[in-house]
Amino acid sequence: MRRTGLVYHPDYLLHAPENWPECPQRLTRTLELFDRVGIRGQMIHVQPRPATTEELAAVHTEDYIAFLERYSADGGGQMTIDTMVSAGSFTAALLAAGGCLSAIDELLAGRLDNALALVRPPGHHAERPVGTGFCLFNNVAVAARYAQRRHGLSRILIVDWDVHHGNGTERTFYDDPGVLFFSVHESPAYPGTGWLSDVGAGDGEGYTVNAPFPAGAGDQAYLRLFDEVLLPVADRYKPELILVSAGQDSHFADYMGNMELTSPGFGRLTGRLTRSEPGPGPKILAVLEGGYNLDVLPSSLLAIAGALIGGDYPSTDPVPAPVDVISETVRQRLAAVRTTQRPYWPFL
Ligand SMILES: [Zn+2]
Repeated sequence: MRRTGLVYHPDYLLHAPENWPECPQRLTRTLELFDRVGIRGQMIHVQPRPATTEELAAVHTEDYIAFLERYSADGGGQMTIDTMVSAGSFTAALLAAGGCLSAIDELLAGRLDNALALVRPPGHHAERPVGTGFCLFNNVAVAARYAQRRHGLSRILIVDWDVHHGNGTERTFYDDPGVLFFSVHESPAYPGTGWLSDVGAGDGEGYTVNAPFPAGAGDQAYLRLFDEVLLPVADRYKPELILVSAGQDSHFADYMGNMELTSPGFGRLTGRLTRSEPGPGPKILAVLEGGYNLDVLPSSLLAIAGALIGGDYPSTDPVPAPVDVISETVRQRLAAVRTTQRPYWPFL
């Protein structure tokens, strides 16, 4: 069993816009399941701290940080067309980003092998000047910058399997070869970014890998993408830290997307990253992004936690999964990803 951290703080529930799909029950339902199956007791609690303005300003403008603090203190409202803020949102958002930083300190001090951050609000759509798409601060981007600046890391891999493209994260590191951003997402879909030909720029050219998949891709398609593209690229890049933007709205029962991943499928994807071997494996921090069906998000996260620990925590979906076949369109997109990336990763 690996030493797996669990990042959680009750103040994550303070971000509570009314009648909103990104809701506190996403966490409380998940922790109920974790307690019921006994996995929470096998994980090491990581105490979140608030991120500082300086740490957030490595990704966001100080104007935006100050605005969000005021806006939240005034009770919040609809900040953008798809982003709500409540009175407790700023507190929650500081602790969401800061919880990831606490986990990185524990991982890099050698006290944890990997960790799962059950944080909210989510982050991967948040851009430098403003949050968007349910996201306030870009937790994963803030964590990667912190790992670079505080801990001196020079190769960080970000894997984003949320059904939506992580536009904010991609933009943050687009010209930075010190962060390899890999995203598989439904396309075309919100937010309309993440095209195959977006491969990074300047020194970062070749360090952005986008796999826009058609609706209907399931476990087999994702696993093939991992085996044929992500893992060979990661073997060559040799990341010192892997951050996962773990959005489970790519589950077949999630109404925010049209992908067909299963809960055990998320466990298998996680297992590919841990390499399923005994021993500590690479340092991994999986950070919650999307996932809105309250009946399946907990089982997806259980599968991820089980794979991180390396223990036997069977996770099942409450309803049968669709038949899992790799469509011709998926085959074509896979081939296109390899062709597009071959100038940078010649073995593809
Ligand atoms: Zn999403």
